[in-house]
Amino acid sequence: MWGLRDVRFLKRYKHKELIAVAVGAVLAGVPLVAFDFWLNGVVDRQGQDEVAISAKRSMTLAETRVSRVIATLDDLAARGVDNCRPTALEAMRQAAFTTTPVKEVAVVGPDGQTQCTHLGLPLGQRKVLSSEPLVGANGYSFDIIQLGTRSERMIRLRRSSGAAGVAALMSADLFLPQVSTEGTLFSAYARVKTRQGNLIGEAGTLTDENEGQSSSFISRMQSDRFGFAVMVAKPRVSASTNHGDLNKLSLFVPAAIAAVLIAFAKLIPKRQAGNPVAELARALDAGEFVPYYQPIVDIRSGQLQGAEVLVRWRKPDGTLIPPGSFIPLAESGGLIHDMTMDLMRRVCVEAGAAIGRRPGMKIGFNFAAQLFKSESIIKEVRDVFSGTPIALTQVVLELTERDPIENLTETRRIIAAMQGIGLRIAIDDVGTGHSGLSYMLKLGVDIIKIDKMFVDAIGSDRNSTTIVETLVDLAHNMRMDIIAEGVENFEQVVHLRELGIRQAQGFVFAPPLPGSAFLQLIEAIDPQAAVTAEEAAASRYTSASRKRFGAV
Ligand code: C2E
Ligand code: CA
Ligand code: CA
Repeated sequence: MWGLRDVRFLKRYKHKELIAVAVGAVLAGVPLVAFDFWLNGVVDRQGQDEVAISAKRSMTLAETRVSRVIATLDDLAARGVDNCRPTALEAMRQAAFTTTPVKEVAVVGPDGQTQCTHLGLPLGQRKVLSSEPLVGANGYSFDIIQLGTRSERMIRLRRSSGAAGVAALMSADLFLPQVSTEGTLFSAYARVKTRQGNLIGEAGTLTDENEGQSSSFISRMQSDRFGFAVMVAKPRVSASTNHGDLNKLSLFVPAAIAAVLIAFAKLIPKRQAGNPVAELARALDAGEFVPYYQPIVDIRSGQLQGAEVLVRWRKPDGTLIPPGSFIPLAESGGLIHDMTMDLMRRVCVEAGAAIGRRPGMKIGFNFAAQLFKSESIIKEVRDVFSGTPIALTQVVLELTERDPIENLTETRRIIAAMQGIGLRIAIDDVGTGHSGLSYMLKLGVDIIKIDKMFVDAIGSDRNSTTIVETLVDLAHNMRMDIIAEGVENFEQVVHLRELGIRQAQGFVFAPPLPGSAFLQLIEAIDPQAAVTAEEAAASRYTSASRKRFGAV
């Protein structure tokens, strides 16, 4: 029988149990809430950064392209091109050829009507959707045009001095970002307007609830130079669905924390016992090292010169590891040779046809200095490219150096032999670490790559500017080409051009792109004719190699 004491005990017991449950819930809940809070913070920051970077990139693209076109039109005007005589048409044809973004150069009358174009094609209907003076460029008008019945908008920049003047037409799409910050195709909404609010172009769709609400990440930017207004928006849902797995994870966080604590003691010794070089070797066998391509641009003509291949470790779960975290280990662990050869073969398979079809295009590989030690490397490199569409004269090897080169005379001899079979050799990161003047003078290379550190300092730091001026002089005297690295903004492009530097790479043009995006970019910039017989032969090679590499 239950007595009164027992009932009281039971009540007290139940009370304690409830407290225990509550304490348990709080203990489990705190990490849950904290994780959720953290996750929202991460999603917010990433989303906001992403739209801000896209907007900045779009703005830089628009400003760079418009400046380039204005320079071309000024040049034509200075040469007296404002009529449709044969000499004027020839000058217009040359200008259209050398100015990448331009589709058409024309002479436009004071009434806004096109009088003739460099193409000499029938003029067709051109509807002027809007026309306004371009701020920041005296005497220019900025027109938005519709060609015939095509929905695509075109931009016309026109020197409008009252009389007939030259004008250039380019696609409005060139003002919009094509690639996301991760290097995939751009999927958010982007819009560019003129100073007066006329729509230049837009990409993606803007749902009603997007604008001005907290359900979207929004970045707005106004161009100081030309008054363009860029807006990029990305719905918060699409940002958080990207983190869907993380969201699910939050359900398991309390349990995971407990599990991690229990497993901790066992896991640590295991990790230490694991061999990171063996893990790299496994990843190499599994084909996890993939090429990314960063475009190199001619900053005088705006044309694409080629690309530098930068390796990425793409893990099976999709995470992308940058080379800084594994290349030093690959070098010290004796894997850099195989990794570099594998990367070259992958590039032949993935981009060989597109590169081979454009003989002027160069493709650069980072080549650790230790690879220049043995003569056999010359034959190995030749074998990698033989039978592929890429000619050896298109290949650049960038001597990437972390430690001083032990035997300069021997390295010099191997470099000369490589040049003998058509390869071009560059010294990377000139101006930093060991890659100084003595290498430049003693190794007999074809190209020097000026490090980002100097590019950043040009204009603001007198000493750095002097060093770069000296390097440029020396390189010119020794008939070396120069490539400036890490160029991030328009002012740097202008400074570099003023210093006499012709080639550059950097985020202002494009980040390192995955193969698919790079191929799309070169097709868009430089569309080529149908497949040639040579290429048909190459694609036979490609399909055989695809099996080995499981290519894209
Ligand atoms: P690097 O050869 O000097 O490559 C340039 C680095 O600068 C790349 O970093 C590139 O993503 C980054 N970069 C390009 N433009 C900009 C910019 O405008 N701003 C900023 N902040 N950075 C920019 P990444 O891809 O992380 O490569 C780092 C280094 O790893 C390379 O430096 C190179 O030394 C090495 N590396 C990459 N791939 C290979 C490879 O296949 N073999 C060897 N041996 N080394 C490699
Ligand atoms: Ca490099
Ligand atoms: Ca470099």
